[in-house]
Amino acid sequence: MTPRVVIIGCGFGGLFAARALRRAPVDITVVDRTNHHLFQPLLYQVATAGLAAPAIAEPIRRILARQRNVTVLYGEAQRVDVASRQVVLENGEALAYDRLILATGATDSYFGHDEWRAHAPGLKTLEDAFEIRKRVFLAFEHAEREVDPVKRAAWLTFVVIGAGATGVEMAGMLAEIARHTLRGEFRRFDPRNARVVLVEAMDRVLPPYTPDLSERARLQLERLGVTVWLGRKVTGINAQGVQLGGDRLEAKTVVWCAGVAASPLGATLGVPLARGGRIIVEPDLTVPGHPDVQVVGDLAFQPDHQPPVPGVAPAAKQMGRLAARNIVSALAGRPTRPFRYSDYGQLATIGRSKAVAMFGRIHVWGWLAWFAWLTAHIYFLIGFRNRLVVLIDWAWAYWTFERSARIVDLGARRRDD
Ligand SMILES: Cc1cc2nc3c(=O)[nH]c(=O)nc-3n(C[C@H](O)[C@H](O)[C@H](O)COP(=O)(O)OP(=O)(O)OC[C@H]3O[C@@H](n4cnc5c(N)ncnc54)[C@H](O)[C@@H]3O)c2cc1C
Repeated sequence: MTPRVVIIGCGFGGLFAARALRRAPVDITVVDRTNHHLFQPLLYQVATAGLAAPAIAEPIRRILARQRNVTVLYGEAQRVDVASRQVVLENGEALAYDRLILATGATDSYFGHDEWRAHAPGLKTLEDAFEIRKRVFLAFEHAEREVDPVKRAAWLTFVVIGAGATGVEMAGMLAEIARHTLRGEFRRFDPRNARVVLVEAMDRVLPPYTPDLSERARLQLERLGVTVWLGRKVTGINAQGVQLGGDRLEAKTVVWCAGVAASPLGATLGVPLARGGRIIVEPDLTVPGHPDVQVVGDLAFQPDHQPPVPGVAPAAKQMGRLAARNIVSALAGRPTRPFRYSDYGQLATIGRSKAVAMFGRIHVWGWLAWFAWLTAHIYFLIGFRNRLVVLIDWAWAYWTFERSARIVDLGARRRDD
């Protein structure tokens, strides 16, 4: 019988594993709870109306249509039964496997305060991006109708919690929207007076970058009009704003970019987990004691890898490819290979012509870093049509500051004051 390979999750790790198995004599089943592969690095662009969803998401079926050894199933894996080698889906259906690749990624963590989620959505899925976009653009609408200046100020205060790459990108974009995109569109207030506050518990923005680049990023954010609060811990969030110890920020729009936890699927295997719920894997990405199960991407934790593998798209792709190669080797009776992350650099954008980039010892910022960021993101987008659409939208936005996807749910209700 042809070996059955089941891949759960078709993000970067899962997709690159499936593609790398295209010539392998195996039957592949790819399961995902969405019908699309999502380019998460540009999700903040959908949340801030710079791009429409189809520019950064592609139907999984279309991507894998020509790969005859793949069947795509739309479904959610509920648990993995390693003893009987089955994955149980949301309707109770069991999928038997000979080899399993788990690639379900990560989700938001509110550090034990799940009650904050309703007031401060995170940014992981397209749904999250739509919710944030709605909140941002409707906040300006509410401000135009509000007569009480204190309440209006709360509608015009935007707080982004967490100054990693996503938080920095969000804060920079929100400042650009207020300063440029909406300029001249309101009669009762000036959108340029909107306040964007970026809050970070550590003492610098972009903690994975070197201190000199963190400082460059902070300066670029402040030049855009973002207020950066460092070394400040959030102690409470409700519908009216954010508590930071003794300080209070009255704000109607709060975005959570602070914590990451592994997909809960990992906990169903009954194997040891690392901090954040990630599955501890052997050097060849297999689960200890279960050589038929491999874990890739944000869900995997390799304790022996130095420096630690970062939770980024290139790492997930590289793991996906290696997991596929190791399956082919194992089926042919050859030894498997250990995973080594190849780091080609890190890029974070802050706004128009503003970014920082780290390629080993080479550090760049400003226009050059932004151009490198732009080129890399267009190059790595899945689908030629998407690349073209993004290029055109960005070129237009560059000259006009317009954001092409500002239409929000017309049925959206006014939020409680
Ligand atoms: C907003 C944001 C910005 C980012 N920016 C960057 C960046 O600029 N550069 C960079 O390198 N990295 C960036 N990252 C990180 C990068 O996107 C992740 O490291 C990468 O996506 C991890 O790949 P993965 O395959 O592990 O998981 P993902 O790409 O998250 O894919 C997981 C897949 O599993 C599916 N899934 C989850 N649970 C189930 C289940 N139970 N059953 C079935 N399917 C399931 C999901 O629908 C999804 O398709 C960013 C992440 C986010 C959220």
